[in-house]
Amino acid sequence: MPFTKLNLHPSLLANVTSLGYKTLTPIQAKAIPVAIEGRDLLGIAKTGSGKTASFVLPILNRMQYNKGLERSRQPPVLVLVPTRELAIQVAEVFRELSINLPQPVKSMAVYGGVSINPQMKAIFGVQALIATPGRLLDLHRSRAVDLSKVETLVLDEADKMLNLDFQKEMKEIFGLLPKKRQNMLFSATLSEQLSGLNKMLLLDPVVIEIEEKVEEAPLINLSGYFVSDDRKGPLLRHLIQEQDMRQVLVFTSSGLKADKVSRKLIKNGIQALPIHGKKSQTARFEALRKFKSGKLRVLVATDLISRGIDINELPYVINYELPRSPKDFVHRVGRTGRANVEGLAISFVTQEEIPHFKVILKKMKRYIDMVDSASLDF
Ligand code: ADP
Ligand code: MG
Repeated sequence: MPFTKLNLHPSLLANVTSLGYKTLTPIQAKAIPVAIEGRDLLGIAKTGSGKTASFVLPILNRMQYNKGLERSRQPPVLVLVPTRELAIQVAEVFRELSINLPQPVKSMAVYGGVSINPQMKAIFGVQALIATPGRLLDLHRSRAVDLSKVETLVLDEADKMLNLDFQKEMKEIFGLLPKKRQNMLFSATLSEQLSGLNKMLLLDPVVIEIEEKVEEAPLINLSGYFVSDDRKGPLLRHLIQEQDMRQVLVFTSSGLKADKVSRKLIKNGIQALPIHGKKSQTARFEALRKFKSGKLRVLVATDLISRGIDINELPYVINYELPRSPKDFVHRVGRTGRANVEGLAISFVTQEEIPHFKVILKKMKRYIDMVDSASLDF
């Protein structure tokens, strides 16, 4: 379906075209009209299927018809995301789609790990605020922002935002929002069985779930290697070199391990950087920026980067260590195979992890032929 079918403001359509989008993705085709109507919605669609524009476009569209947007510390739109890196990325989509709109929309990302003062100043006049929960509350406590006029709330990676990790902060934020508002929840892994909290959050929601078509070849190819822990390093280097991987995202289960794997790669002449929660914010931004712009060959990450991050045509993801939850697996491998471009996700599996890996594949409804790394020459 072409974007012109949507009745979007012509200036928005022009921005969509200049981003190179030609047709609507399935979630966009279904979610945007519902969102424009102002209804609550729950959008479930696979990783890399364009969920961001599914909420950014209707929000910007609505604002084109609100004459004279107020400049205040009371943003009408609030988007909550789990990580600083994702806040920046979503704000970038708002920015790209807001270019030259007749009714300018000021958007901004706020997140922790950097000084709060510049954010306190810059937040004045922001209409679309993209935030991580902790920093948003800090800004509220400093009276830099007032959430009582929020008209639209978006939870991106909604299942993550509503799980235990953010429970305390989210409860506090909900207490600051007006009761009457539009709620939009998006994620690739969001069960339709809403928990109590989701139920409170949504008023007669339209549930849109885009099922993957089984007859279509999946965009994310999966492969796996049986390998012992002590052979993982050599196998990683072997694969990177033998398959001439130009860009690869490697996942480990801890920051310490990410540092280690990255160091070892560098020692062997392969350009790499680690990224995880224990790194300084400057180091985090710098590593991701380099990787996104194709200037870094290997990024070794924890699950910090597994949610939402969009790397243009990333060809490879490697699970150096398997994640504990199948959900995290879905998000990790979903960094590749995005926007209709195929990718390969490789998993390293030790003997002890075979049953766990089988559970993950079963949940994904996938089957793969494993390679025994002992049969390889490296
Ligand atoms: P999701 O949130 O579903 O994981 P994103 O919103 O991050 O996916 O979008 C994934 C990629 O697809 C982005 O690079 C985005 O620019 C691109 N994209 C989004 N919508 C379209 C479209 N209609 N046509 C082409 N590319 C699109
Ligand atoms: Mg997303």
